[in-house]
Amino acid sequence: LEAAVIDPLTGLHNRRYLDAKLDPLMRRVAAGRMRLSALALDLDHFKRINDVHGHEAGDFVLREFAERLAAAVRPLDLVARSGGEEFVVIMPGASGDIAALAAERLRRRLVAAPYTLDGGLRIDVTVSIGVAGADPRDTSRSLLKRADVALYRAKEAGRNRVMAEAHEMA
Ligand code: GH3
Ligand code: MG
Ligand code: MG
Repeated sequence: LEAAVIDPLTGLHNRRYLDAKLDPLMRRVAAGRMRLSALALDLDHFKRINDVHGHEAGDFVLREFAERLAAAVRPLDLVARSGGEEFVVIMPGASGDIAALAAERLRRRLVAAPYTLDGGLRIDVTVSIGVAGADPRDTSRSLLKRADVALYRAKEAGRNRVMAEAHEMA
């Protein structure tokens, strides 16, 4: 059963697990009983890392990124690898503004140090993050979609940054 909800490369939960956990939380948001925000994270120019250093090095970066991410979030936050070089963090209790601040702290921690392979190769990694605060009318899907739209805007604006729905984090 566990294998069905764990991503084998990173050990993080997968999208299936995230959806199962998020749906009941969204019902509490709909009832006006809880705030919640979603972060969509996507490694910048990850294809280049594969192309320049090889697929194994790319896998290492994904594992290391997942480890840093899991270590940096709060215990109640949900973290999942949503696919490829994309990750989602759900922050129960956080408004969009609070989540945007948390996302910027997270981004800095994730990229502060180079990703160092066993052979000593150091790879500089950056990540773009989109943030959406849940609205009572949101479904899981619409919320994650809005986080993705914000992520797309972070990419368009030059990558290596957090974009919330309304404004960019410095
Ligand atoms: P952008 O900044 O726009 O996100 O550019 P990008 O290169 O990160 O995005 P793109 O979607 O072009 O490439 C994503 C790459 O991620 C392509 C795919 O081969 C690679 N990838 C997906 N899953 C894995 C994986 O499990 N391991 C490795 N090594 N690479 C992966
Ligand atoms: Mg991607
Ligand atoms: Mg990418």
